[in-house]
Amino acid sequence: MYHRHDVIVVGGGGAGLMAAVQLAGQCDVAVVSKLYPARSHTGAAQGGIAAALANVEEDHWEWHMFDTVKGGDYIVDQDAAEILARDAVDAILELEHMGLPFNRTEDGRIDQRRFGGHTRNYGEAAVRRACYAADRTGHMILHTLYQQTIKHEVAFYDEFHMLDLLITEDGICNGIVALEVQSGELHIFHAKAVIMATGGFGRVFKITSNAMANTGDGLAIPFRLGIPLEDMEFFQFHPTGIYRQGILITEGARGEGGILRNDAGERFMERYAPTLKDLAPRDMVSRYIWQEIREGRGVNGSDYVHLDLTHLPPGTLREKLPDITEFVETYLGLDAETQLVPIQPTAHYGMGGLPTDIDGRVVVDEDNTVLPGLYAAGECACVSVHGANRLGTNSLVDLVVFGRRAGRQAGEYINEAGFAPLQREPEYRSRAQVDSFLSRAGGERVPDIRATLQTEMMDKASVFRTGSELEGLTDTLRQLRDAYSNAAIQDRGRIFNMDLLEALELEALLDCSDAIVAGALARTESRGAHSREDYPDRDDDNWLAHTLAYKTSGGIRMKKKPVVITKFEPQERKY
Ligand SMILES: Cc1cc2nc3c(=O)[nH]c(=O)nc-3n(C[C@H](O)[C@H](O)[C@H](O)COP(=O)(O)OP(=O)(O)OC[C@H]3O[C@@H](n4cnc5c(N)ncnc54)[C@H](O)[C@@H]3O)c2cc1C
Repeated sequence: MYHRHDVIVVGGGGAGLMAAVQLAGQCDVAVVSKLYPARSHTGAAQGGIAAALANVEEDHWEWHMFDTVKGGDYIVDQDAAEILARDAVDAILELEHMGLPFNRTEDGRIDQRRFGGHTRNYGEAAVRRACYAADRTGHMILHTLYQQTIKHEVAFYDEFHMLDLLITEDGICNGIVALEVQSGELHIFHAKAVIMATGGFGRVFKITSNAMANTGDGLAIPFRLGIPLEDMEFFQFHPTGIYRQGILITEGARGEGGILRNDAGERFMERYAPTLKDLAPRDMVSRYIWQEIREGRGVNGSDYVHLDLTHLPPGTLREKLPDITEFVETYLGLDAETQLVPIQPTAHYGMGGLPTDIDGRVVVDEDNTVLPGLYAAGECACVSVHGANRLGTNSLVDLVVFGRRAGRQAGEYINEAGFAPLQREPEYRSRAQVDSFLSRAGGERVPDIRATLQTEMMDKASVFRTGSELEGLTDTLRQLRDAYSNAAIQDRGRIFNMDLLEALELEALLDCSDAIVAGALARTESRGAHSREDYPDRDDDNWLAHTLAYKTSGGIRMKKKPVVITKFEPQERKY
């Protein structure tokens, strides 16, 4: 079936809906999403959204910018970080005016709490910068934006799974192909511009805070077509996942005063980060948790430590952290008010993604050459405001600030651009992909290949990495790719074929893993979330640079891209 809209936004999470809201009423915009928009992972975001509102104590956007740059271990592009920190203030007010129910101070202003790596006066002490709606901030953002898109009559194609991106021979993006889940039918969406807002890829790892749907489809599809992925080696592990399950306990729990303790009950973060302690950035806290565990100070000699919330003032959990209190009870059978909570780092956020300029335009090389008609925003994009390690609460602000910019920029572009003609049979690649699965008999099971992939990535490419393990992992990925080319699915029907969707998602996980591992192997230094035990130091002489990974017929080709430095020269990172 054929559809035509001026702009197609792929993804109904925070980034996609923010972009769509900008375009609504000005042009014909449609959102294509494999999930119902309200089920997007943005809805799971808990702790907060950063903006230097200075509602509860002195704060300035320059301090927020500095923290973002330092938090990202100095490979944040500073022009983008300046926009993030400056525009955050206005973006929060826009959300408030749309009706977002933030927690309030006693005098009725938006309340703010502490979060990791956010400081007053360039690192002096933790600052209250995170605006929040209890521990359901993402849920409130997503629903607020969804209401706006409904109000402005944005067209929605819910449960349509994107399979391919259309690019003309002249290199202009002119649409997508998607599978309608309910019927199994292929749909061609012809557009003047496409905005990718497909979210993250945490499902690459075994222990993760991410939803099942976070499989990186929107990174993998352009990657297969020769578009590079930037900085994929930087994957953030959040320090506090529920032990063995990875379900997130927001950093807001430490922002409200929670403490990490080892087997001896010691508040070990005091030793590693004397100023910020438990509110040091995530890359560091996750590394130090593993260090405690490796040195035998995990609880009962095991592979977890405790999050202690028992000393918080009465009512804090109920009023400010109700959901995580319930998670702890449901998944661990514990009462967080009186008992210690077992936690371990959990795969949380991909700093890398589709390279874009500050207006959300996808760029394809180190000179920032734009691919006309293609935009990206949110977790699937790399603008790069998070560099080597994202600060907590900076993703939600990235969605609204850069989702908005991508939407506005696409709106300007389509005023000039026409519908580039479609190639013949634009759906041929997608049809071949689907038909090959539906016609194949016998072969390895998709869930088995996926489980091996997730375990291997967890073991060899998570918090600590070494060259030799990454080389071994490269071979394993090749074997898994071979297994995948013979994989079979059980359901051969067209209607609601979840087996088929999982098989397609597995290919995206394999592509993202290839890019992560190639980047991790290439980057012979330790920076932010990328920690090479064989190269333990940061190496600014060789690696104050982004990486671009290109998929080629023979494997992955890596290139470097310069970092934009405007205000803050790299320094040693201490907290
Ligand atoms: C548990 C948890 C808590 C978090 N808490 C915070 C927090 O407190 N503060 C903060 O700043 N950040 C937080 N984050 C990070 C932040 O929530 C995410 O980075 C962000 O919400 C991603 O938004 P997005 O719009 O890019 O993607 P998502 O919200 O993940 O949406 C992706 C969309 O793309 C669609 N899609 C994907 N693939 C396809 C396809 N093939 N075809 C069609 N559609 C597709 C999906 O249907 C979905 O609608 C948290 C993350 C997690 C996992």
